[in-house]
Amino acid sequence: MTFLATDPLAASAGPAGAAMGTASTSQEARAGSQGQKATAAAASGPSPEQWDAAVALVEQAVAAGTTIGLLAHVNPDGDALGSALALGLALQSRGARVVVSFEAVPFGVPANLRFLPGQHMIVAPEQFPDDVPLVITFDTGSLDRLGVLAPVAATTPAVLVIDHHRSNTGFGTDLLLDVTAASTTEVVAALVDKLGVPLSEELATALYVGLVTDTGSFRYSATSPESHELAARLLRAGVRHAEVNLLVWDTRPLGYLPLLATALGRVKLWGDVVWTWVSVDDLEAAGVGLEEAESIIDVVRTAEQSQVAVVLKQDVDGSWRVSTRSRGKVDVGAACGLLGGGGHQLAAGFTSRDDAATTLEKFRAAVARTAPLTS
Ligand code: AMP
Ligand code: MN
Ligand code: MN
Repeated sequence: MTFLATDPLAASAGPAGAAMGTASTSQEARAGSQGQKATAAAASGPSPEQWDAAVALVEQAVAAGTTIGLLAHVNPDGDALGSALALGLALQSRGARVVVSFEAVPFGVPANLRFLPGQHMIVAPEQFPDDVPLVITFDTGSLDRLGVLAPVAATTPAVLVIDHHRSNTGFGTDLLLDVTAASTTEVVAALVDKLGVPLSEELATALYVGLVTDTGSFRYSATSPESHELAARLLRAGVRHAEVNLLVWDTRPLGYLPLLATALGRVKLWGDVVWTWVSVDDLEAAGVGLEEAESIIDVVRTAEQSQVAVVLKQDVDGSWRVSTRSRGKVDVGAACGLLGGGGHQLAAGFTSRDDAATTLEKFRAAVARTAPLTS
């Protein structure tokens, strides 16, 4: 299966593309005219033509006064929501009408992101207008990652995809994909600059949250000199970084602590995979929502005997949301791609309807079929 090392798209384009391949003819015509599919896997950032097309699309919508729909991926993290709110604030400052949405069940902003500026723009998927001429998606590698909002993006005439996932399938009509960016907010920051919008404290804070969450506070390998340069600009624009980081990383409901204890108490090492799980019953006993289970992987992955860490989180419908992390040798993005999910080489995920043991077995089998990372 050596193709995985050279063609990451091959691992993930199938399920999403096939399942949601309902793009309108006008969408296909736009995408085709820009050679989008061929450039989706480019190792660097967007081409000058892609930047020009994206800026023109946004400027036209602002000038026309039509509502612009901004969509984050399901159960949005700091990067997805920070990106959508940042561009929303920028567009509002230019006089545009914007609406931000995403799928989450039950619907709501995760507790530790409720301080993000721009929440007034957020509506539940049921309230999302069905006639917006332009939709922009953030941090979303494939159409299915929009959940119940996927049909909206599949049928809207113009869809600008802003992302940094190597596994991006190239959906939409216009693409700003930078696989070298540590966060989608880095790409959004560049777009905000091209739109000539100055960085207010609020806008900078939304960008900063995406940057610190996706880089793990500038620790992960995707962190670049550009990430630090952007952080410096954002701090100069007024971001209160100590306050923001306290809320993002170090503020949890009390029930998080017993939940963490339960999850860590049943950690197991299987070969070089360290893993644990959190059930719906565990969440109920701790009195917290699924969002509180998201950061458990950050503790589990510290086991030095492991190459890969896995946390299975049970959703209300009984399915497992699986988070995976690699210490550097295993391409978990490719492995998760084989199971219908995706992500980055060192941080990825998928959804499973099998029981926990079968899910882990299938993941280990997928890892075995994946070419190891070399550097
Ligand atoms: P998480 O473990 O949820 O923090 O996700 C790690 C990375 O994998 C992020 O870039 C996610 O966007 C991506 N990811 C997680 N779950 C999925 C999925 N089911 N399909 C595609 N990508 C995913
Ligand atoms: Mn994300
Ligand atoms: Mn991201």
